[in-house]
Amino acid sequence: QTHQVDVLIIGAGASGLFCAIEASKRGRKVCVIDHANKAGKKILMSGGGRCNFTNYTVDADNYISHNPHFCKSALKRFNQWDFLALVQRYQIPFHERLHGQLFCDHSAKDILHMLLAECQRYAVSISLQCSVLAVTADDGGGFRVQTGLGVWHCQSLVIATGGLSIPKMGATPLGYQIAEQLGIKVWPTRAGLVPLTLQPADKDIFATLSGIAVPCEVSVQNSRFKENLLFTHRGLSGPVILQISSYWQAGEALLINCLPDLPLLNLLKQQRGQGSKLKLKTWLAEYLPKRLLQALLPEQLLELALVDCSDKQFQLVVNHIQAWQIKPNGSEGYRTAEVTVGGVDCDALSSKTLESKKHPGLYFIGEVVDVTGWLGGYNFQWAWSSGWCAGQYV
Ligand code: FAD
Repeated sequence: QTHQVDVLIIGAGASGLFCAIEASKRGRKVCVIDHANKAGKKILMSGGGRCNFTNYTVDADNYISHNPHFCKSALKRFNQWDFLALVQRYQIPFHERLHGQLFCDHSAKDILHMLLAECQRYAVSISLQCSVLAVTADDGGGFRVQTGLGVWHCQSLVIATGGLSIPKMGATPLGYQIAEQLGIKVWPTRAGLVPLTLQPADKDIFATLSGIAVPCEVSVQNSRFKENLLFTHRGLSGPVILQISSYWQAGEALLINCLPDLPLLNLLKQQRGQGSKLKLKTWLAEYLPKRLLQALLPEQLLELALVDCSDKQFQLVVNHIQAWQIKPNGSEGYRTAEVTVGGVDCDALSSKTLESKKHPGLYFIGEVVDVTGWLGGYNFQWAWSSGWCAGQYV
């Protein structure tokens, strides 16, 4: 079977559906194809089923990319308020959580239903369970996409195949492969917003802390985040670890401050000055869980009375608690990652239209592009913004 459309979009996820709606509004004949049996599966599982669909404050600084300026144009032209206006038009109840994160009150289904209702309203056609076999440039312009459900000819081809996380949900490297096949640079990819695993020796020590959460400041290189760190039986997790994981490179150590807001050294000296006979472990237990203290500090040190501690011993306490260095073994990988860091090189695309500079008519949007948001609704906002922009030009 042969199909002729103006715009073919590969990937019925967040960015692909949004682009399709915008292009259809302009009167373009649009088809979205996806190999999955359902559109927007990742939307449904996002935000613990409540979809953190955007954030009250969105800035280029909330994104990681080899070209940190690239995302600015799209984020400005279709911003969080624009998306929120749509959510409100559909009367979807939502609420704000920490750091301006916006979640559905009821279910992520509300967001997906809204997108599918808009698709229907503007007559977007969606073909599911459609596997892509080959993509080639058409003689006389446009593209030819061969699939399990026939051949599509289109003027504009939009690649919205997302990243590599959660292969079980249908993630594949197709978008990266199409880019490479057409000579477009793809930055190496790695799992982001993902729990980190520990070296075997550390795992033995910290596995006993499984379930404990502590507010920490964690840094690598020049990036730092302050939020909860959660110990699990596999390693380190919690929002602060997910955030830093997108910056962490294999082999690097994390620098962790378990008491980021406390002038610990001064307080310890003050206690000694007052002749406190409290044991270090008793005094520190006011601030941190006992089991964490036992894992971080030598037993003999913890047994000392504050009044008997030397400056050197206090410094050791401070080093272990406020400048704890630990080298993760790796990450849990794409199986549990929320995003993929890296991807299609921004410099190969127009920041205004998301069109390939080398191949007119070819567009890349959403997570397949080398733009990775922090935890907090930033990845969906990039999907909406980049999808909207391409939708104005396809
Ligand atoms: P996707 O939404 O992933 O869509 C890509 C589509 O392409 C999929 O439908 C897929 O089936 C299809 N596809 C892939 N390969 C092929 C192929 N070979 N042939 C045909 N079709 C193909 N971000 C937030 O901002 N807030 C959150 O709360 C949030 N929670 C998340 C929770 C989880 C567990 C995960 C995994 C991610 C979460 N994210 C969240 C990230 C967010 O889901 C993605 O960044 C976003 O969905 C990317 O949109 P996209 O359109 O680029 O790709």
